[in-house]
Amino acid sequence: MRRRTILRTLGGIAGVGTLGIGTVSADDCTDDFIKPGGPFPPETANINYNAFTSNADLYNTLDKLDRKSNLEYDSIGETWEGRDVPYVRVDGGDTDVVYVTQQHGDEQHTTEAVLQLLQRFAAGGHQVEKIRDEVTLHVVPRLNPDGWAPADNNETPQRENARPADICHDGPYFGKNQCGSVDPNRQHYFGIDSDILAETDGIDPDLIPNENPSPETQALLDKADEVDADIICDWHHQFTYRNSDCELINASTMWPRNEAAPDEAVNLSRQISAHAYQETTDLGHTTWDRYPGGTTANIARNAHGIRGRGSVLFEFRGQASQLGNAANGKLVTVINTTMNEILEGLASGALYEVDPAAADEIPPRGDYFWKDLPREEWSPEHEAYRE
Ligand SMILES: [Zn+2]
Repeated sequence: MRRRTILRTLGGIAGVGTLGIGTVSADDCTDDFIKPGGPFPPETANINYNAFTSNADLYNTLDKLDRKSNLEYDSIGETWEGRDVPYVRVDGGDTDVVYVTQQHGDEQHTTEAVLQLLQRFAAGGHQVEKIRDEVTLHVVPRLNPDGWAPADNNETPQRENARPADICHDGPYFGKNQCGSVDPNRQHYFGIDSDILAETDGIDPDLIPNENPSPETQALLDKADEVDADIICDWHHQFTYRNSDCELINASTMWPRNEAAPDEAVNLSRQISAHAYQETTDLGHTTWDRYPGGTTANIARNAHGIRGRGSVLFEFRGQASQLGNAANGKLVTVINTTMNEILEGLASGALYEVDPAAADEIPPRGDYFWKDLPREEWSPEHEAYRE
């Protein structure tokens, strides 16, 4: 009982104080009960990263797609450890859509899902051609291969990149003398007018480093500029949440929340979130909530929005350290379905018919739920797992 009281209190604080978009409570769900199926299975007992695509297999697969289909594979940059940042172009219509997976090295199901999507485009067919009439798709599958690399030895992959411990910078969002690895999803403010950063985020322009501490992020930003991207969807994983119906939440989404993002970009982003929700919410086990993301311009979702692009964050259940390969097939299906629905909505035009306000119909944040680690034992390290 005590535990559930704490859960409710923290949920309330987060909803009202920091985020302003509310939360729901799973107070009436007993202990580890979920619907359907009863008690939460012991998923953490089965962590085995060999079930996922290794870095070597990823590059081989992309090479093969490049040779055997009309997809074009290229490297758009190099990581701190010298790995290629992979990029695939699926040529087509005038709407340039970018899908980025695995900015965080420990969020791997998204890459499996986007590889399935690429295989579908390589195979072709009527439905794929309809999408290509309208959309040119740009995919960065696994932006952060250094973060994933430990998993190729079946060790826990890491969220951040692999900048060496003795390389440091002063950063406007995090203070002076930051050394070592950085979070690629916190380095997207490079190139945004410093007057905007000063006005919306209170940033001192003198603290902006000359070079991006995440070359992976800079490679993405450069590519997005080069192709003049209309839409960027950023695919992630989060810890597990449970809603007031005692269902596990598999999918979350959010749009730009920085005040410098133009209305047109925010509305398009809301249409994408709402369309994804509407098209998948009736499918088995695809239970959604709104991701309580922050407002600052260093986060990809906000930074792309400030640049005037449609920009959407998607978060799915299954942070590596929590879930490993449990529920792998189901999660990849949920993600892949969402990726496809957005492209089909853009191709048919149905997505542009969605009322941007409909995004507010996506339920608010559920309650944190991790059977093996009660919320009150969540450390600052876990708190850092955001977006
Ligand atoms: Zn992430």
